[in-house]
Amino acid sequence: MVGATALLPSCGEAGSAIYLGVQDDPEGTEGSTVATESTAPAPALTDAHVVVVTIDGVRWQDVFAPALRAELEGAQRGPGDLGALMPRTRALVAAQGVALGAGGDGCGIVQTASAANISLPGYLEIFSGHATTCTSNDCDRTTAPTVLDEAVRAGLGPVASISSWPQIDRAVSRGDSGVLVSAGRFEWPAERPAGSAFAALLDAADAADPFPSTGNYRPDRFTAPIALQYFREHSPALFHVGLVDADEWAHRDDLVAYANALREADAVIGQLADAIAESEARDRTTVIVTTDHGRNDDFKDHTSLRYDSSRTFVLAFGARVPARGVICPTRNHTLIDIAPTIRVILGLPAVHGSRRGAPIDEILR
Ligand SMILES: [Zn+2]
Repeated sequence: MVGATALLPSCGEAGSAIYLGVQDDPEGTEGSTVATESTAPAPALTDAHVVVVTIDGVRWQDVFAPALRAELEGAQRGPGDLGALMPRTRALVAAQGVALGAGGDGCGIVQTASAANISLPGYLEIFSGHATTCTSNDCDRTTAPTVLDEAVRAGLGPVASISSWPQIDRAVSRGDSGVLVSAGRFEWPAERPAGSAFAALLDAADAADPFPSTGNYRPDRFTAPIALQYFREHSPALFHVGLVDADEWAHRDDLVAYANALREADAVIGQLADAIAESEARDRTTVIVTTDHGRNDDFKDHTSLRYDSSRTFVLAFGARVPARGVICPTRNHTLIDIAPTIRVILGLPAVHGSRRGAPIDEILR
């Protein structure tokens, strides 16, 4: 069965260093250990919208617990109030949503599915709903349609992904469906109205220094305003914003800058929530926030097959999501459960098969 709970020790249990990922499913039964016992979710809202925000390489502890604050204070390298890394997101979840991944006695956790625990495999899992065999950031573009491709083909639109990291384009779309993908500082893939405020944002990003990364990386402070402006102007049916600075700073072992990147990501989520509240789709929009992998216990890096780096989280708020705050799931979830959840919310057909995820029941009502 997919979802090898027998291999997975509960949160904090000693001897939990190794994680092998979800196992093959010889009987071909899609879904996880208990998904077949679940009642079918309610039908999709008419003209439902979904916004997915990924924040690269975030430790689950930094979302749910003040661990980072203690570390910063202990290392005496953090300034000011460090207790509120994601205050707006946490408030939105408390008032309108659920959070999975905090662990706890007997509670299901959230992990990568393949245990590669690096970015491209993580994003392939998030957007395909399938446990990937990709184990590096150099894999080819997905040959299977992603949930973004499926949304376009179902006539939903617009559908877009706007991200800081160039290689993410291989995971968000097969490339032949019409999804608008802007990954890093490659040319904007659509009309660029000369003289517009939006064109000015694109020009500023094109001229930007890629630090804290290199090459065609587009730092989050440029990606975020482009994404927000696109969102306000186009009201996409399915929209992905990919923020990546947190992982870049972590690899530089800069805990303070990592914390600031999380605060900036929190502000972006707040701005998206404000834009949704002002939009015509305010009562039909669900927001999902997740990360592509966790981090090793020593913070700086993330490593394949390591349990600590496999730990992720899923936050959700808005339409269809019950207001339950941080919950104790009855089973473990993995990144491949996110695309099936989006399919249910948007009314897209389910995709069956071995090593595929199942909708996250706790997000849906
Ligand atoms: Zn990384």
